Amino acid sequence: MGRSEQIYDVVVVGGGIAGVCAAMSSARCGVKVALVHDRPLLGGNASGELKIHIAGADCSGNAIARFVRESGIIDEIRIENLHRNPANSQDILSVILREFIWAEPNITLFMNTHVRDVRMSASDKIESIEADQLTTEKTFVFKAKIFIDCTGDGFISDRAGAKFRIGREAKDEFNESLAPKQADSKTLPSCVEFYLQDMGKPTPFHPPSWAYKYKSDKELPFRDISRQSWQFGDFCGGFWWLSAGGDKSTIDDNEEIYEELLRVLMGIFDLMKNGGDYGADNFAIDWISPIPGKRESRRCQGDYWLTQNDVLEGKIFPDAVAYGGWPIDIHPPEGVFSKEPPNLAIPLARPYTIPLRCLYSVNIDNLMFAGRNASYTHIGLGSSRVMATCGFVGQAAGVAGALAVFKNKTPREIRESHIAEVQQTLMRQGVYIPYCKNDDKSDLAQIAKVSASSESPLNIRENEKEKIKFEYPLFQLFPVSDGKLKNVEIFIDAKRNSKFKASLRYAKDIWDFSSVDNITVADAIAQEDGKQWLTFGFDAKNLSRGFYWINVESPDSDASWFISDEVIPGLVCGIGKPPESRIPELAPKYKTMRGTFIFRLSPTSYPFPPDNVINGVARCEQWTNFWRSKPIEKSSPEWLQLSWSTPQRIGEIHFAFDGQFDSNIIWPAPLGVFGCETLPTIVKQYEIQIKQEGQWKTIICETDNYKPMHIHKFETIETDNMRILIHKTNGVKEARIFEIRVY
Ligand SMILES: Cc1cc2nc3c(=O)[nH]c(=O)nc-3n(C[C@H](O)[C@H](O)[C@H](O)COP(=O)(O)OP(=O)(O)OC[C@H]3O[C@@H](n4cnc5c(N)ncnc54)[C@H](O)[C@@H]3O)c2cc1C
Repeated sequence: MGRSEQIYDVVVVGGGIAGVCAAMSSARCGVKVALVHDRPLLGGNASGELKIHIAGADCSGNAIARFVRESGIIDEIRIENLHRNPANSQDILSVILREFIWAEPNITLFMNTHVRDVRMSASDKIESIEADQLTTEKTFVFKAKIFIDCTGDGFISDRAGAKFRIGREAKDEFNESLAPKQADSKTLPSCVEFYLQDMGKPTPFHPPSWAYKYKSDKELPFRDISRQSWQFGDFCGGFWWLSAGGDKSTIDDNEEIYEELLRVLMGIFDLMKNGGDYGADNFAIDWISPIPGKRESRRCQGDYWLTQNDVLEGKIFPDAVAYGGWPIDIHPPEGVFSKEPPNLAIPLARPYTIPLRCLYSVNIDNLMFAGRNASYTHIGLGSSRVMATCGFVGQAAGVAGALAVFKNKTPREIRESHIAEVQQTLMRQGVYIPYCKNDDKSDLAQIAKVSASSESPLNIRENEKEKIKFEYPLFQLFPVSDGKLKNVEIFIDAKRNSKFKASLRYAKDIWDFSSVDNITVADAIAQEDGKQWLTFGFDAKNLSRGFYWINVESPDSDASWFISDEVIPGLVCGIGKPPESRIPELAPKYKTMRGTFIFRLSPTSYPFPPDNVINGVARCEQWTNFWRSKPIEKSSPEWLQLSWSTPQRIGEIHFAFDGQFDSNIIWPAPLGVFGCETLPTIVKQYEIQIKQEGQWKTIICETDNYKPMHIHKFETIETDNMRILIHKTNGVKEARIFEIRVY
């Protein structure tokens, strides 16, 4: 059996979504990385082993906070998967992940390689880790300056003597109202996944003798086994609530938990087939996950525990390196054996940030972690465990780890004295961090003058597909570019003489509907029956440039407001009806919707000027932050130009197009945008031109772009003018660009 010493700068253990993103971001910073993974497939729970879809802050399209899908590496992966994996096969996803790793020359991938031991050079420093590659009988001793534990179970942390926790914190410790009164050792339960296949004719099911016996679905309170709960278009399978074992040890008792889950699954399927009409007559099980999906085990201790209150408050930390937005989603530890509902979910009004302090060990100097084993309380993990968040924090840990190597510092020292550099590097890699701005002094776009062929005013396509009744107040957020707002007109279906009251309020960003202070109030009365524009004369002056929202009430009118399915970043609409929640006092008091209500502002707002592309924020947040051209004509492309007062040497250009961050890139296909191959808002065909000796010269011609963030590298050239000529998008009529960077 061969044994070899392997020396790297950063070693990432665990090739789940967190580990893949950590390895890639570190490698992109220029350090040598080993990714060590003990399975044959990359992706962890997103691989063919568990087939769990990657969810994140957009809550698969159901988030209250809009435009929050994660960017950066996790989005590169999701967009590539969207483009290349029409069947949305989890096995293809694993291959795509492998390809992403292969594309990084600084990563060496060790598959089927199980880390079994950790050696310390001092009580607070890991010297090496030892691993066996099961398929080749090789043993590797990995030495590195930084180790990143992405094993999900915090295995490296445990073996290194790093501090960690298992179980639930007591309510009092962090003032978490959702935590139990007393601390205990219970966790979220583990789950078995299965798929069903339609056999086209009735098929028998003979349960094994060891299956549990359920006489009726009353023995499974709050758990739905009817067909609508397991069939989504062509996809049939489930159940996220078929879980158990959080009252045992999800590590020590893992095998026992799996056997228990098999007994439950076979028993439930017996009930579905032989115990009543659940629409399953023609269905057979054709796949069962070979291991239990784990939601929680060890949580490693950083310099900070992310808590319930941070999550609900949407906290912005000074050392923010990522964000989350999934609801606080906690499950009873006993899973299917609990008589309680299978989960308690508190939706969030806004994204919360995750500080770097959660991603390195409190007591081992060269140990970092990312994924579900990071430093979150049990309740904090209720939100932060979903895989897009894991990937996001993976990318952050990878960057901070690489900077620690370059500067010969510990991750803690990096946080103390180089946090801005971590944030700036992440942003340069395409990551959006709420309330952080591009301050990259080497970005030449920042000192350019920006001009464009055109600029689109705020206008909304007036399609009348759907309308929402004024049973509850309805609201619309929009950007105001000028200091005044004379009128807001809304397009409604009403009856003569119906009365409406609208209040104009300020929003500090696109997620802020907290204000109850009216800037001004206006009434209006519908003058006729049917479709019509209704005008609210606000006559508001001295408004600062920013977001405002109108809250419109007409409880007795039986009227409706037309809603357009056009998605324009910076427009958010909603209904003043609280979402369903078992703890309404913790949830927002409203819901938002995809699209926009149909409205007009006077004077017209111009919130998409060309210089938005260099204002430092590549996502709509406190402002729209993108350029939107007029519709592109076939004969004349739209363009955006950067001009410098003196010639600049340039060799790298980054474009952040509109990645339609309010889209639902999810699985199963019928529920998301699968099948469309990319997002219609992304620019598809464009040329990059530079001006030399008074002539425009094309240096890059892109014919089939589908990536929200596209980086072009080329041999350095000198110019004082560059422009992008946009010929076509993947769907929308106009060009949209959030950011241009030039190096
Ligand atoms: C039933 C269920 C449903 C869920 N639903 C969703 C959902 O819909 N969407 C969503 O985004 N999230 C969901 N989650 C949560 C999510 O899947 C996990 O929180 C997430 O997978 C954690 O990612 P990770 O990268 O930290 O760990 P993992 O995905 O667990 O990956 C860690 C990898 O490290 C490897 N590893 C472990 N030890 C070693 C070692 N010693 N040496 C080498 N490699 C090692 C493991 O084999 C594993 O593949 C669900 C979880 C469960 C269980």
